[in-house]
Amino acid sequence: TTIDSLYDSHIALYPDFPQDGVLFRDITPLLRDPVAFRQVMDHWCSKIPSDIDLIIGTEARGFVFGAPMAYALGIGFVPVRKAGKLPGDPRSLTYDLEYGTATVEIAEHAIGDGHRVMVVDDLLATGGTARATVDLARQYGADVAGASFLIELEGLGGRDVLDDVPVTTVWSVP
Ligand code: 5GP
Repeated sequence: TTIDSLYDSHIALYPDFPQDGVLFRDITPLLRDPVAFRQVMDHWCSKIPSDIDLIIGTEARGFVFGAPMAYALGIGFVPVRKAGKLPGDPRSLTYDLEYGTATVEIAEHAIGDGHRVMVVDDLLATGGTARATVDLARQYGADVAGASFLIELEGLGGRDVLDDVPVTTVWSVP
């Protein structure tokens, strides 16, 4: 089975979810199939440079893919959480959404100065989430080696928003 064909068979499309006009890409059929999940993770891991110290995954689907990726690569995983979930004194960054704002947080001592990190999430749309994550990681002195996504929705400008970061994807779709 080719990686390309797995997109059609294992990513489900839901029109008008979570709101009218949005075509939601559901990754759960991929997670549900152990053979396809392994094939995709192995392929995705092969695109990650070998000199990375940490995978930085965004809540919640960035955890589902980022943690097994870190495990497979033998490196650490750092969760990027929504506001108010982390104990201690996390750093936070608030960014604009289409309506309102959102806040991402990383634990206090999770990233060291000069650590080479890779931002991982399931899907790149407008790039707002990944942009905030890159900027927050840089507040720790991280060297952001790239951002990698299972799915990129082309034409929403995500790549342009991440113009100072190498972007890699498993599937880029119109
Ligand atoms: P962005 O910030 O790039 O506009 O949106 C990306 C974020 O929203 C990611 O964290 C991603 O999980 C979520 N997201 C937006 N649209 C979809 C979608 O159609 N499917 C999935 N699985 N996640 C989405």
